[in-house]
Amino acid sequence: ASLPAHERALVERRQFLLGPSYRLFYKEPLHLVRGEGVWLYDQNGKPYLDAYNNVPSVGHCHPRVVEAVSRQAATLNTHTRYLDDALLDYSERLLATLPAELSRVMYTCSGSEAVDLALRIACFHTGGTGIIITENAYHGTTRTTAEISPSLGEAMPLGQHVVTVPAPDTYRRAEADIGEAMARDVRAAIAFLTRRGIKPAAFIADGIFSTDGIFSEPAGFLQKTLDAVHAAGALYIADEVQPGFGRLGDGMWGFARHGIVPDIAVMGKPMGNGMPIAAAAMKPAVQEEFGQKIRYFNTFGANHVSIAAASAVLSVIGDEDLVDNAKRSGAAMLAGLRSLQECDERIGDVRGSGLFIGVEFVKDRTTREPNGTLASDVINDMRRRGVLISAAGPAGNILKIRPPLPFSTENAGHFLDVLGSVLSDLP
Ligand code: PMP
Repeated sequence: ASLPAHERALVERRQFLLGPSYRLFYKEPLHLVRGEGVWLYDQNGKPYLDAYNNVPSVGHCHPRVVEAVSRQAATLNTHTRYLDDALLDYSERLLATLPAELSRVMYTCSGSEAVDLALRIACFHTGGTGIIITENAYHGTTRTTAEISPSLGEAMPLGQHVVTVPAPDTYRRAEADIGEAMARDVRAAIAFLTRRGIKPAAFIADGIFSTDGIFSEPAGFLQKTLDAVHAAGALYIADEVQPGFGRLGDGMWGFARHGIVPDIAVMGKPMGNGMPIAAAAMKPAVQEEFGQKIRYFNTFGANHVSIAAASAVLSVIGDEDLVDNAKRSGAAMLAGLRSLQECDERIGDVRGSGLFIGVEFVKDRTTREPNGTLASDVINDMRRRGVLISAAGPAGNILKIRPPLPFSTENAGHFLDVLGSVLSDLP
């Protein structure tokens, strides 16, 4: 209601032109016109500290990415059916960040397409169709990936061949060994599929379980699940769209924290700092026959401009030490959030790794009943005070803190000050 007239008109035009599937953030939607580093600016020049956006991973409008994209756009931009050094140079650099077993890469324009391709390859390779996912997973917008995305809500039908397992929720589940608990659930899902005559093709999970509520600890817990998946002859697909490219502050990849080597790793969002590029890296043995029998061409995937962006992103991550920065700033943020938790009963749990952190609000620390209303109030009040975040988890009660990687310890300090004052003003 307190929106200025122009912004009110924008909301109405959006509803008319784009329809109701397009949701906006915030009770008072934001109208952003510029970004730089970890800062975003609205139409009045008001700055907002971005503690949410993971796509502009090396910072909004990073000058090296902008320069690489502009130079390449002014030189050549075609597809992957001509010979080209830059595509292969980038592929070698990217694969060098992954375990040696993952030595082949295929490119797409979006994470959804990359997941879709990974599923096609897994089904082709195993001869199966069954897919195992977590209960509140999100894997994309295509028909096949939406069918494995229960977080889209109850109106989104899951595929007949899809089985869910509970998230590795270390806050709410009683099992002492969450890795064993998850592997047991996956074995049960495999048995369920098999009894119905469905051969399991793949287990796929986001390495930080972001829509499930952000679960990354303890490192190593995914090993037993990987073993269970392999014992059934299925493939393990690591969806690195969220944790990938250094966000967890502990190497480049979420699965690597767990000491596992997946059969296929899918990556996207931060890969091009906003340019549409995504990929699936895989073991050659998994892809070979698929590749021989089925032609693959993705018109825009890995075009020259996208590769220039992705290549600049890799350079900046290394040159600016962004993985270490994510570790340092993330640790400062976690420590600050834990001191807020000590004197605020409403914060049930604080967890995460690097610059991917969740703060869980509960109505009561004993029952752990989720408090989604409080999370929503905090997010909207922080937006009014110039700090941007969002919510995660099936009940929307978990603050999702996931800033661009150059987020400094000073930025973390500012974030904590604003969160502290918002919490003390809310009943
Ligand atoms: N997998 C995960 C874990 C994601 O978070 C997303 C995007 N939110 C996707 C896949 C799909 O990526 P895209 O939106 O680029 O298609």
